[in-house]
Amino acid sequence: MTQQHIHCTVDNCHYWAQGNKCVANEILVASDQLGADQPDRIDATTAQNLNPTPVNTCMSTCCKSFVAGNSPNTNVDGIKKQ
Ligand code: SF4
Repeated sequence: MTQQHIHCTVDNCHYWAQGNKCVANEILVASDQLGADQPDRIDATTAQNLNPTPVNTCMSTCCKSFVAGNSPNTNVDGIKKQ
């Protein structure tokens, strides 16, 4: 499988790295609604069990894997830094 490169400008995220790179081993992009409704533990590690959440514009999506770099909850979702 081809290595994906995820670029991100949210530099206060735990998974952000120099050059606007995301260094999470996996992420979950979802609708804003799912992001607001589901707890932090619901993330890329549980993605196979989630129903699809279609949206109409990019403005309605979010990175569910975001966690602030200074948060005590960086390990709640099971995602790892590469
Ligand atoms: S986890 Fe999401 S918000 Fe955080 S650096 Fe990666 S893409 Fe950006």
